[in-house]
Amino acid sequence: MINLASDGLQAGGILVQMLPRTAEETSEVEQNQDAGIDDDLWTRLSVLTRTVKPEELTTLDANEILYRLYHEENIVAPEPAPLSFGCTCSREKCEMAIEQIGEAEALDIVEEQGGTFEMDCGFCGEVYKFNKDDVAAIFAE
Ligand SMILES: [Zn+2]
Repeated sequence: MINLASDGLQAGGILVQMLPRTAEETSEVEQNQDAGIDDDLWTRLSVLTRTVKPEELTTLDANEILYRLYHEENIVAPEPAPLSFGCTCSREKCEMAIEQIGEAEALDIVEEQGGTFEMDCGFCGEVYKFNKDDVAAIFAE
């Protein structure tokens, strides 16, 4: 389950995922019904996760949220990883898209847009420009 919140300036969220049992855990369950496998865990975590308030997700430190929600559980938090913006767009990918459109259609677009076929990336805002010769070169390959 995923719970996201934003106050217009900051965003926060929590993702709770049940991972498959390890081979060791599976064999413990097979050998002994009472092996300490917690069958209620998912239900309990889901209920707890729903109690987090949007303002807690946007303002509190991750460890504080973990403590407030799951302090009765046995928790191991991974090291925090820094986030950075990255876009996978490229001129080559635009060329591949133009190839899909077909040469005649692509040249029509160049004409319609006054000599330059502009493709802008909706994620990072980068603008890729192709003129008639660029389009011709894509189909000449
Ligand atoms: Zn981009």
